[in-house]
Amino acid sequence: MAPIPIIHRDPTLDAVDAAIEVSGNAEPARPYLGMSEIGRECARAIWYGFRWATRSRFDAATLKRFQDGHRAEAIMIERLRAVPGIILWTEDPSGNGRQIGRKDVGGHFRGHLDGIIQGLLQAPKTPHVWEHKATNETKQAKLIKLIAELGEKQALKAWDPVYYAQGQVYMHYQGLTRHYLTCDSPGSRSTVSVRTDYDHIEAVKLLAKASRIITASEPPARISERPDWYQCSWCQHKPACHEKQIPEVACRTCAHATPELDGDGRWSCARYQCDIDTETQRRGSECPSHVFIPALLPWKAVDANEAEGWIEYGNGIRNGPGGIASTELLANTAM
Ligand code: SF4
Ligand code: SF4
Repeated sequence: MAPIPIIHRDPTLDAVDAAIEVSGNAEPARPYLGMSEIGRECARAIWYGFRWATRSRFDAATLKRFQDGHRAEAIMIERLRAVPGIILWTEDPSGNGRQIGRKDVGGHFRGHLDGIIQGLLQAPKTPHVWEHKATNETKQAKLIKLIAELGEKQALKAWDPVYYAQGQVYMHYQGLTRHYLTCDSPGSRSTVSVRTDYDHIEAVKLLAKASRIITASEPPARISERPDWYQCSWCQHKPACHEKQIPEVACRTCAHATPELDGDGRWSCARYQCDIDTETQRRGSECPSHVFIPALLPWKAVDANEAEGWIEYGNGIRNGPGGIASTELLANTAM
């Protein structure tokens, strides 16, 4: 019998990972639908994210990849700027010191560009939207293969539809027709690039998709009814979507909340007839009137009382004032 391998664990490095997980998961959910995710195939997953239905929790390995990505971007900026003739803008022209930001759909759809680059040796006069991605070697090799097989301008869409969609939307809002993506392997030791043209029809479809998701009062259809479908198997929203888990309690999962289109990321509460700012929305669990959007719960709604603010389900559960509080439902998912 082969000897059982002994896995060496270092308690210090375990503590490092634990610290990374604490600090890396402290960020609250972002208050807008990000342009970086509009290319995700499942509209329902994007909607769940916009509605804070699931609390994201990343493990240390994933958080380290994020950190790697930030560092890789900073290194790439430095390297590109070292090339004579290249101008790379990475900050908003307003001088606020932030990334170049774009927003639409009442301020609910937002994105932040890595930069605008001009002076590329292969197209010196044309400004390009610039994005940098850090990937593993296998994914980078796939991009190289696709460039060889399909040609540079077709490769990004085939390689990563989410990055492609992000690029199309950024070009649209920036009024540019070219996109330049650089892609590093871990440690920034090897870099490849791919240029992509603007496709107006594609961009307009993506904006319409964003608008549909933001204004949807219920989750859009599932991409698959099978929980073991490959996209569902790694989706963070699978427990709420397929496994009857009660979603998080915040204003965004409450039937009284609406994202309004006439402000700058404005949300309103029909129950209290007021606007609700982001901090208030995060504290929705403290509100005695929170009542889940019925389509977020795994039961069929059979009755409701608008004046009292409750909704009743076929299994006899009444959620809202006078019934079971949403926080209680969440605490007792097995009900
Ligand atoms: S579990 Fe599947 S259907 Fe549900 S949101 Fe995720 S990807 Fe979409
Ligand atoms: S009723 Fe309460 S939880 Fe619901 S949207 Fe209004 S303030 Fe938020």
